Amino acid sequence: MNPLYHRAEFLLSAPNLKTTPDGIEFEVAFAGRSNAGKSSTINTLTHQKSLARTSKTPGRTQQLVYFKLDETRCLVDLPGYGYAKVPLNVQLKWQKELEHYLEKRAVLNGLVLVVDIRRSLAEYDMQMIEYATHLNLDVFVALTKADKLSRNAAKNTLFSAQKLFKDASTNIQIELFSSLKKEGVEPLHDWLDAHMGITKV
Ligand code: GDP
Repeated sequence: MNPLYHRAEFLLSAPNLKTTPDGIEFEVAFAGRSNAGKSSTINTLTHQKSLARTSKTPGRTQQLVYFKLDETRCLVDLPGYGYAKVPLNVQLKWQKELEHYLEKRAVLNGLVLVVDIRRSLAEYDMQMIEYATHLNLDVFVALTKADKLSRNAAKNTLFSAQKLFKDASTNIQIELFSSLKKEGVEPLHDWLDAHMGITKV
């Protein structure tokens, strides 16, 4: 693992595209349903216990949370989606801000979608993948909490998910992941390296 990941630190929270930081050359955004395990994935990737807060109140202020790896590279934590208690008008407003960000942020170079393996790819996840494809963004799907299934069940879920996109034009990589067992960390680091111009060491 490149030591950059371990050096990740909070940079800022941006409520919209206008307030995203200048001077960044590469960023990758992390999306997923609330409680899928997104914060844990970011913490695992950066070897930090509480960089992205786990088990925070779902649906807290909807912002793009920036973690910088160095002066030109960031990981961006998008708010978890699918939390029903967020009022509809807030959800719709955020949806617009998010689309604006995904469409217009020129340095955005990929999307990591964190999915609880027990739910596999749900409707929102599929919409995110379709949207990313439409925008020509590469996607990495981390089927996390793989430790919660038997080995066979986890592999079967992985193969079915991979099969879904076998013939699609989507540039998508799908892997098993577990923050608890530190499984799947290397493939995700490799993918992030490739999408953020990071040299593997
Ligand atoms: P977020 O809302 O997507 O950021 O989800 P969190 O990272 O806060 O995780 C939600 C819950 O799932 C927490 O209780 C975590 O401890 C648990 N969790 C996250 N990743 C894993 C994993 O890989 N394995 C297991 N067993 N539990 C996990």
